[in-house]
Amino acid sequence: MKMLLDGRWVDRDEKIDVLDPFDNSVIDTVPRGTKADVEIALVAAAKGFEVTKRMTVYDRAQILYKAAGIISDNLEDYATVIAREGSKTINEARKEASRCVNTLTCSAEEAKRILGETIPFDSFPGGEKRRGYYYRFPIGVVLAITPFNDPLNLVAHKLGPAIAAGNSVILKPATVTPLSAIKLVEALLEAGLPPMAIQIITGYGSEIGDPLVSDERVRMISFTGGVEAGKHIASIAGIKKIGMELGSDSPVIVWKDADLELAVESCVSGAFWAAGQNCIGVQRLLVHRDIYDEFKTKFVKRTKLYKIGDKLKEETDMGPMITETEAKRVEKWVKEAVEKGAAVLTGGKREGALFEPTVLEKVPSNVTIHYEEVFGPTVNLYPVDDLDEAIRQANSLPYGLLAAIFTSNIDVAFKAAYELDCGGVMINDSTDYRLDSMPFGGVKYSGLGREGLKFSLQEMTEPKVVCFHLPGI
Ligand code: NAP
Repeated sequence: MKMLLDGRWVDRDEKIDVLDPFDNSVIDTVPRGTKADVEIALVAAAKGFEVTKRMTVYDRAQILYKAAGIISDNLEDYATVIAREGSKTINEARKEASRCVNTLTCSAEEAKRILGETIPFDSFPGGEKRRGYYYRFPIGVVLAITPFNDPLNLVAHKLGPAIAAGNSVILKPATVTPLSAIKLVEALLEAGLPPMAIQIITGYGSEIGDPLVSDERVRMISFTGGVEAGKHIASIAGIKKIGMELGSDSPVIVWKDADLELAVESCVSGAFWAAGQNCIGVQRLLVHRDIYDEFKTKFVKRTKLYKIGDKLKEETDMGPMITETEAKRVEKWVKEAVEKGAAVLTGGKREGALFEPTVLEKVPSNVTIHYEEVFGPTVNLYPVDDLDEAIRQANSLPYGLLAAIFTSNIDVAFKAAYELDCGGVMINDSTDYRLDSMPFGGVKYSGLGREGLKFSLQEMTEPKVVCFHLPGI
């Protein structure tokens, strides 16, 4: 596939192979973008903004509705690309493709709700005979940098609201999964998006990231990825808006009065979805001691039923990690935990990029798999005795994206909802529940700002005040 620069699909002699992590077969190639390509993208995006800022809300919304329709009509093609270039099984990929349709549709709807307000200028002496309002205007060139784990829908979470707002976009997709992102842009162009409105530059973040991020023509960086890249980007961005959706180590409390069948089913899926490479994947299960053994037995039994293997087979529950290197990292972290006293209840073995769904207990607090985001198919069980302790443990790490609690006691649920330090609390769902239109983002190292179409649109627009001084009235 090619890059889209200055209104044209372009290729380069130097290419990057896009591999299927299940068998390392080459699916396609993309050009290895350079600093010279960054400059082309920046110049074109600035010109593109002159076009997009003049498009009507109606036109912007229609493009998004039509693109959603194109993806919906070709859902299986989109799902297959997601499943081949990434870690997801075909069933997981179908869900992502249908969520992308919803993300674009909600973006179209929100385009019509970019509202302002009248301002009571005469509410303070000196404001007499003044009438006015504010409206929201597009911010300019948005740089969208996206991760590998939801290669279609997380791109739609940036392109949808950016287009709805009237911005132009430079998209830098993850190097391991650029194909779904390019196919999304194909749908937008087919739906009528002016080609200058969007630039796609493929290539390594380590090579083309800095000149993109630090350039003053970019007015907002919308980044989803890991905290290390996030810190680097924030350190060189200069004066521009930054939205950051970063990692987490999602805690789930299972209280003694929980519906255990529901909690087990929901947390097994939440831990191993996309082979655990999910920013809201369940990592830490804090289980009330009274039900710890029963929960553990049920959880391990359900995990053992998971079928891992070929992502394109309907019966596969979990595919490989994104690369063998990533699977080896998780293997090393499990080994470190076991050497320091953790017990593997099931899983723990690796074959190539496939890592078994793994459940650990007795994990000490000084091992990496306890305090770092794992981003792999492992989950830790911890017994807890009281709610304050569970909340303290949940809040003890430097992330805070989503947290969850299973309980049938409304007081317990409310206490957890207010005291868990994070961007959202799910009650009787695992942390892996997200509606694309809800405000989504984290505290601490989990990020800055919020996505979720209405909320992204706020971040991607600015209020402008208009004040009429009318001495004659
Ligand atoms: P990553 O390694 O941080 O990469 C994310 C994106 O940033 C990729 O496009 C990458 O390009 C680019 N990048 C890396 N270094 C860069 C630099 N110096 N300048 C500019 N761009 C740079 O993350 P990942 O492994 O793809 O994704 C996993 C992480 O994303 C996890 O931590 C996960 O929790 C987080 N995540 C968060 C959310 C959320 O909504 N909060 C959602 C999904 C994932 P290359 O691919 O070329 O390196």
